[in-house]
Amino acid sequence: MSISTIAQAKELRGLGLVASHSHITGLGLESDMTLEPRHTSQGMVGQLKARKAAGVILQMIKEGRIAGRAVLMAGPPSTGKTAIAMGIAQSLGEDVPFTMVGGSEIFSLEMSKTEALTQAFRKSIGVRIKEESEIIEGEVVEIQIDRSITGGHKQGKLTIKTTDMETVYDLGTKMIESLSKEKVLAGDVVSIDKASGAVTKIGRSYARARDYDAMGADTKFVQCPEGEIQKRKETVHTVSLHEIDVINSRTQGFLALFSGDTGEIRSEVRDQINAKVGEWREEGKAEICPGVLFIDEVHMLDIESFSYINRALEDDLAPVVIMATNRGMSRTRGTNYKSPHGLPADLLDRVIIISTSSYSPEEIREILHIRAQEEEVELSPDALAILTKIGVETSLRYAANLIAVAHLAAAKRKANIVDVDDVKRSYTLFLDKDRSVEYLSQYANRYIG
Ligand code: ATP
Repeated sequence: MSISTIAQAKELRGLGLVASHSHITGLGLESDMTLEPRHTSQGMVGQLKARKAAGVILQMIKEGRIAGRAVLMAGPPSTGKTAIAMGIAQSLGEDVPFTMVGGSEIFSLEMSKTEALTQAFRKSIGVRIKEESEIIEGEVVEIQIDRSITGGHKQGKLTIKTTDMETVYDLGTKMIESLSKEKVLAGDVVSIDKASGAVTKIGRSYARARDYDAMGADTKFVQCPEGEIQKRKETVHTVSLHEIDVINSRTQGFLALFSGDTGEIRSEVRDQINAKVGEWREEGKAEICPGVLFIDEVHMLDIESFSYINRALEDDLAPVVIMATNRGMSRTRGTNYKSPHGLPADLLDRVIIISTSSYSPEEIREILHIRAQEEEVELSPDALAILTKIGVETSLRYAANLIAVAHLAAAKRKANIVDVDDVKRSYTLFLDKDRSVEYLSQYANRYIG
């Protein structure tokens, strides 16, 4: 069984499911504020309403307001449901986990359905672990005074920028005039000339400053706050709950992470990890970062899996679950009931549905054009036109698949540009679904069944 994370998916460019979406680099929206989809952007074409809705979901994920919810992408085959989920994945922060799994992958001989689902859920929950590490004693590269007048008092803020960080030091109501830049180190005492705003480094103690102080009221002294600069640096790394499970599972050990062959993990291990992570959260050492679990072809799941999902969504530690289906009214596996999209009513009740609709010929043409560019295949205008026609009459996915085949046909005749004949040849070589059905019904008696 293989559940791929986005990082693995990126590595797998050139193979299977992900390769067909490699042209998608985001949702192609105007900006975070308006969430207006651009017609063609970041590899995305059309499907504007669904993309806008996905943008809203993305925003909610980023704000951490959607954990434990479920989204259902529903629409005919090849209308970009997976593509939009990939667009969401690409737009998430680097450390937000995104896990992708096909409905049928849940069923395997290696582990039970619930174990497979549990692993998928826990891969989608990140734990940001904070670690305090070395002390910074960065060199002060800039100091500036920010003056404001509040309630008749002049107030100042001293900002000290070191090579690694910026510290704002509140100088309270001391009379502070503007500071110009000078290189000073933590602990240095500086004088600030009120008239000119010039900063002069005095030394490392107030003792000398006091002498200067006696010289005139026009000079102020500030000691650059040593303690403030000597902050401990915090480093943060994010791992998934699943990774913590595997590392702590005595039978598996972390090597299993490399092989991906983790087998079943005992529930006591998970309980311990949950308790530990809970402690870290309380101590401020870790925070939970709910990611996204994308379940494609969700109608392949059965009633037990659906009730698992329903329950898992209630959990404290739940990711956002995005499901996709191309089914209309259909039977829920494991029952005799028909329901919309094959989802049981109680789960359906808690999902928000984003629907996708069929593309116009122009949009199909644009997507095929982008795919050809992505696959580094040059199509003649006529070849693109005929591929578009095939896309309209069969499916976008079938037409997109023909690009690579037609490219081989062109290479065989030592041509660089794919032409109409190459497309035609591929079209006759590989059947689309309708022609395959027709062929089957014609030759039904030669097949077993
Ligand atoms: P199915 O129900 O059959 O799983 P789907 O709705 O998930 O289909 P996709 O797999 O997303 O469809 O789309 C088929 C192909 O078309 C993919 O290569 C996808 O990247 C591309 N595609 C679909 N919609 C768009 C779009 N709006 N812009 C760009 N590419 C798209």
